[in-house]
Amino acid sequence: MSLFRDMKCGCGIPVARRTSWTHKNHRRKFVACIFYNAEIGQSDCNTFEWLDDDIFDWQRDVINVLIAEKHILATDNSILNQGLCFLNTRTKG
Ligand SMILES: [Zn+2]
Repeated sequence: MSLFRDMKCGCGIPVARRTSWTHKNHRRKFVACIFYNAEIGQSDCNTFEWLDDDIFDWQRDVINVLIAEKHILATDNSILNQGLCFLNTRTKG
């Protein structure tokens, strides 16, 4: 990682170390131009390099399923908490 500390992009600016949050490359580390736009995958220059190895498709699928299930559980938990609050206010009043 420290190899990239002095690395500069095509703009002549030190690269930024970042983390991808896309479904395809969830939590993968990379360095890129500070003007790199992760949403559209473009920057003013083409300096971009992954810092870690790619994962297998099945690993990516498992991660994305677990993330989706986590969101469902968080939503269920929120709904249950709201119901519990409602019941608590009714029993107190
Ligand atoms: Zn640049």
